[in-house]
Amino acid sequence: MINFDFDYYKASDLKSAYDLYKDLTGKGKKVFYYAGGTELITSFRKGTIKADALIDIKDIEGIKTIRCEEEVVLGGCLTLNEIIETHNIDILKEVLIHIGDHTVRNAITIGGNICGRLPYKEAILPLLALDADIVTYGEQGLREVKLRDLFDKRLKLSPGEILYQIKYLNKRITYGMKRYTETTSVDYPIVHVFVRNDSEKSVAVSGYCSYPLFKVFSNESLEGIKGDFESFGKDDKRASKAYKKHLFEEALDSIFREMEDK
Ligand SMILES: Cc1cc2nc3c(=O)[nH]c(=O)nc-3n(C[C@H](O)[C@H](O)[C@H](O)COP(=O)(O)OP(=O)(O)OC[C@H]3O[C@@H](n4cnc5c(N)ncnc54)[C@H](O)[C@@H]3O)c2cc1C
Repeated sequence: MINFDFDYYKASDLKSAYDLYKDLTGKGKKVFYYAGGTELITSFRKGTIKADALIDIKDIEGIKTIRCEEEVVLGGCLTLNEIIETHNIDILKEVLIHIGDHTVRNAITIGGNICGRLPYKEAILPLLALDADIVTYGEQGLREVKLRDLFDKRLKLSPGEILYQIKYLNKRITYGMKRYTETTSVDYPIVHVFVRNDSEKSVAVSGYCSYPLFKVFSNESLEGIKGDFESFGKDDKRASKAYKKHLFEEALDSIFREMEDK
């Protein structure tokens, strides 16, 4: 049960959503954009977050766009299943398919996964490796920036800024991933490692500490890469820091070995 009242608004365009957010927060109200609602409603029920108003952004024009040509364009409010079921979005699909179960993937949006409070944000791992751009709407209207430039532990959006679209070149990259969970595969990851190894060598990892980590390497050896991540590991209720380090290093060994064998 949600034990407080809140107002619900539905926006049809970016400007009216943003203006409404500014207007309501200017009056001292606590406001959230509402996408899939899975995180917000769970938090409301638990009483860990309260709100005076929700602005539903799913009907905003273009925020459900899905285009897969030379460039892939994904609206921020596409559900994970809408992306998974689209032909030719293979790299992202391989990651998204592990988030929650089929039912919850019908609701979770890619924007919600990236902008939410939970530390995992697994959708961001391949997007960082693919060097995606993001289009946001805020004080200056639309802006397109490198995801890598706006991501530091979390997506650094200004208050009220909306993640509108994600774009990346539909190019082939050489990649490998390993995802470890505590019991069944439908669970948050203890460690999820995504490696790119072609013209660029990069490693993205979720679960290892309280935010996703991403690093690009030039000539570092595998041992050097491992050492670069070592200090970030954190104990949590799923696993100790030592166990995460073990899984992380095992994942790197195995991914790079598989790449060499190909
Ligand atoms: C059962 C279950 C299993 C899960 N398993 C995993 C997992 O294995 N791995 C993983 O990474 N995550 C997992 N999650 C977490 C899930 O991806 C996040 O909770 C995500 O926030 C849910 O997306 P949503 O669209 O429902 O977000 P909402 O609840 O609608 O919103 C979450 C937050 O993001 C903000 N927001 C949403 N969209 C935008 C946007 N376009 N622009 C700006 N702000 C926005 C909202 O204002 C709010 O603050 C799981 C969640 C559930 C419920």
